[in-house]
Amino acid sequence: MDAPTFNATRFVRPALLSVIFYFFVVVNSSMMMVNPAHATGNVPVSISCSSYTLVNSQSRGEVVFSVPGFPTPGAACAYENFGLGSSFPNGSYSCASPYTFWWAVCAAVNSCPANSTGTPAINPTICTCDSGFKPDAAGTSCVSEQYTLTLTPESATIEPGKTYTFTATLTNQDGTPPAQPVPVSVKVDVDPTSGGHDHGEAYATRPKGSVSPASGNTALSITFTATEVSGTHKITATCDQCSNSPKTATVDVKVDGLHQITDDPSLYVLIGGEPDKKHHDNHYLTDDAKSQLVVLAINYHFLYPNELVLHLNDASLVWGGKFDINGNWVGDHGAHRRGTVIDVRANTASGNIPERLFTDFEKLADGTQKNLAGSSVSANAELHCSSGRDPSADNCVGDDNRHYHVILLGVDQ
Ligand SMILES: [Zn+2]
Ligand SMILES: [Zn+2]
Repeated sequence: MDAPTFNATRFVRPALLSVIFYFFVVVNSSMMMVNPAHATGNVPVSISCSSYTLVNSQSRGEVVFSVPGFPTPGAACAYENFGLGSSFPNGSYSCASPYTFWWAVCAAVNSCPANSTGTPAINPTICTCDSGFKPDAAGTSCVSEQYTLTLTPESATIEPGKTYTFTATLTNQDGTPPAQPVPVSVKVDVDPTSGGHDHGEAYATRPKGSVSPASGNTALSITFTATEVSGTHKITATCDQCSNSPKTATVDVKVDGLHQITDDPSLYVLIGGEPDKKHHDNHYLTDDAKSQLVVLAINYHFLYPNELVLHLNDASLVWGGKFDINGNWVGDHGAHRRGTVIDVRANTASGNIPERLFTDFEKLADGTQKNLAGSSVSANAELHCSSGRDPSADNCVGDDNRHYHVILLGVDQ
């Protein structure tokens, strides 16, 4: 028998053709078969050859030997021990005798790309992107999801005690919701000096609105509930996995439309709000209430020109809401919340309404009309005293806290 001689060409060409044929027919058809829409989070399986089996073309189907990893075409032949049943070292061509063709047959195995999980685990037919990953634009590999956080609206104004709904939404780079739930947390802070409550104290003791829920996934409808105390709140939504976290929104809790009573010493004097007090913006009313008050002050001054003009104490704070008269968040100034009530000095200090004019002043208030939407509304002056004193008994003689609580526009709020 002739000694075998090497003829690489005779082997390599059919072998390469076989491999090319395999990838063209098998891989491409597989990709077409196992290619679910990537919106589902799936990507195609990868098909590779776990090993190549060399088959003698003259005895098709007969397994001669296996070579893990197909040898590089053009590499030197490391022929040795030629013959059926003998093995070739890794990385070599199969060297065949001049009269023998060898074919390489791929033992295909499926696998999943990085950041995906196969089903079944062995030789999978489905690859699903792992949590936090999604198919890329081509739908062939799993890339990290990029989340964007949106908090809407960016600002809102609501009245004390009311609620408002904000929305926190996450989207990925496609503008669609994340494939997996992504946590979002929400908190609220309040500006300690806002709303006219410049108490000069730390934030910790101040009441603030609440948010609910304080956490969730992906898309949250957040209810902000204001307290009765006005002020600027900041809602912060945080998403650790988002590229633009945190996002904030501002809520002004306020009674809108209040304006300061302009100083006019010829008609009235503004008192209260001194530097040692907790509230320095204490003279706010609605425009309609203010105009009714000015008429009352003008009439009083016209009727009693020898008396000092009305001395006006607390009305409402700049943003209305609860007026904690002692600046400690507890207690209340009764009404004085919506810019329609003002206290007028009637104790024993200078500038008071003297006791002998109490009845006249109450009648004067009754007769001070304001036309609102076609109907006439009176002012109403109520004598208020220290707790425990009954004005109807003795007009609270000697009470330093005695004053007229003047209700404008008929709104004692
Ligand atoms: Zn206050
Ligand atoms: Zn009052």
